[in-house]
Amino acid sequence: MKKQTKLIRIQTEKTQFREHSTPLYMTSSFCFEDAQMGKDLFDNSLEGNIYSRFSNPTVQEFVDKVCMLEEMEDGIATSTGMAAVYAGFAAHLQSGDHIVSSKALFGSAHQIITQILPKWGISHTYVNASEPKEVWEAAIQPNTKMIYLETPSNPGLELVDMEMAGQIAKAHNLIYFVDNCFATPVLQVPATYGANLVVHSATKFMDGQGRVLGGIIVGTKEMIEPVRFFCRQTGPSLSPFNAWVLSKSLETLTLRVDKHCENAEKLALALEGLPGVKKVNYPFLPSHPQYDLAKKQMSAGGALVTIELEGGFERVIKFTKLLTIPSLTSNLGDSRTTITNPDTTTHAKVSKQDKELLGIFEGSMRISVGLEDIEDIIEDFKQAINGSN
Ligand SMILES: *Cc1c(COP(=O)(O)O)cnc(C)c1O
Repeated sequence: MKKQTKLIRIQTEKTQFREHSTPLYMTSSFCFEDAQMGKDLFDNSLEGNIYSRFSNPTVQEFVDKVCMLEEMEDGIATSTGMAAVYAGFAAHLQSGDHIVSSKALFGSAHQIITQILPKWGISHTYVNASEPKEVWEAAIQPNTKMIYLETPSNPGLELVDMEMAGQIAKAHNLIYFVDNCFATPVLQVPATYGANLVVHSATKFMDGQGRVLGGIIVGTKEMIEPVRFFCRQTGPSLSPFNAWVLSKSLETLTLRVDKHCENAEKLALALEGLPGVKKVNYPFLPSHPQYDLAKKQMSAGGALVTIELEGGFERVIKFTKLLTIPSLTSNLGDSRTTITNPDTTTHAKVSKQDKELLGIFEGSMRISVGLEDIEDIIEDFKQAINGSN
């Protein structure tokens, strides 16, 4: 069966009620038929649900779907994307280890790497996403244990060559860990390039409608085993309710992502070259510096478009006051077009020098293009850009 069919048909076993839609197992624990069963479940001679911090059928259905999409053997769902990122680090790294990571990271991932991991003596080297192989390779030290990356990056939409990173990981025997949130497994499957851990903020495109927080980490059986131990003991579990919402949402993931990409490409093309717009960044625009790589490793350009308006923050304020449809909010991956000024919101804590390296300027606007009729969105952007010129 094709992925799309599986995505719709993977479902928890039907109960005696013969329900059609998937049931929600909203329970904190599970009963033992007798004391022997309790003993067997606890000593692992019998597999089954015990307690929802360990496993839950609704949560497992969501995990099964993402494993299928990411072509991975096993996975753990978590309460947020950051819990999944942290679990991946905490389960695999120990004092004295070193990580090589792409520099343009989601803000909280950057905070974990620079503020939390150093408390346990775990160090890092950042490399700019678009650097060639030699530069990535030069960052590796004898104690490097992991290569971590996000592609495309937030909000600069720079790409890391996943095949190149895979070759380096293999040659140096590193854990190859990818945050695939921006692209989703619809557009790229990091496992194809040898990634052995992949993480998602399910809050974004997997939910797709801005309702629940969730995260997931998937990987090879061997890589997930320590993550399972870490999560069972420390408890960043996903709520069954959120898992139920996310699993239902995944049925339409492919359709939604395809439409997001179609709309984003149209918006990017319509805004490029407009007076008042200094730059439009979109991986599938021929003007993107890594257009060829984007075409090679992504099946479409994604839902995110970053534009740079001429003028400073005053201009940004005027522009956002004039926009009538998009929601001004820092979330992304929603059916509604959302827009934010990274310089003063998501990346406000980053130094000015680093912001420039990451392609963040006063006039930068990150747009997560939604599923509205794109003609309306284009028209709205045009009038707000003209009106603020
Ligand atoms: C949102 C996001 C996260 C964090 O996910 P939460 O669900 O908010 O914890 C991590 N990585 C990327 C790329 C994100 O966009």
